[in-house]
Amino acid sequence: MNKSLRKAVIAGNWKMNKTRPEAKELIEAIKPLAVGADCEVVVCVPFTNLETAVEATKGTNIHVGAQNCHFEKSGAFTGEISADMLTELGVEYVVLGHSERRQYFGETDETVNKRLKAALEAGLKPIVCIGELLWERECGITEEVLGKQCKLDFFGISAEDMKKTVIAYEPVWAIGTGKTATADQAEEACAYIRSVIAKMFDKATADAVTVQYGGSMNAKNAAELLSKPDVDGGLIGGASLKAPDFGVIIAAAKE
Ligand code: PEP
Repeated sequence: MNKSLRKAVIAGNWKMNKTRPEAKELIEAIKPLAVGADCEVVVCVPFTNLETAVEATKGTNIHVGAQNCHFEKSGAFTGEISADMLTELGVEYVVLGHSERRQYFGETDETVNKRLKAALEAGLKPIVCIGELLWERECGITEEVLGKQCKLDFFGISAEDMKKTVIAYEPVWAIGTGKTATADQAEEACAYIRSVIAKMFDKATADAVTVQYGGSMNAKNAAELLSKPDVDGGLIGGASLKAPDFGVIIAAAKE
């Protein structure tokens, strides 16, 4: 990545894993591995672990994120959590539009855009996930898919807000499958996303925005993926649940 322009963000997406004691244990194990990190270290934990994570990371360089938030401030939305409820807890980041939410919970680009606006208004740092399906890649429309998602998901936000937003390029076929995009495929897609942001906003915004790669990133492949100039960190699922592996990925972002 171009470290003179951007800081890498290494974020763990714990998905629906870990009880509160387990969450505390994992954070305690990550803490020493994050000391002196040359990247922003984030753990995106289930809602029930947020308070535990905020408490356990006080005074450290580990930041806490949630995995979703609703777009309304309050009201009759059973089961939902607002962006303000997250900031009240001391949460800094929120993952939006993860492919699992798009696939299983009816998330659309329109609702991602609404959630993004609500998160930014509440002062959260959003991590917005975009990425193509295997079928779309095979049909040769990866760039069209990524371009459309950028245009819809980031519609109507200011350049300043775009700079605060992290984009996670997550090819859906690589999430939780053990199939990683090659470093060249990741670079190509992240660079393309940056070119779309330059067209939508301007070059300064595109140069400043963090574009992560996510999809089966692990202790073995992280260094090569993170060596690419347009890959500004990673969103990591499975490997973020094992402290030693997550530690290797954090260290790889230093080099
Ligand atoms: C993710 O959950 O965003 C992810 C990339 O998962 P995994 O690393 O397990 O593929």
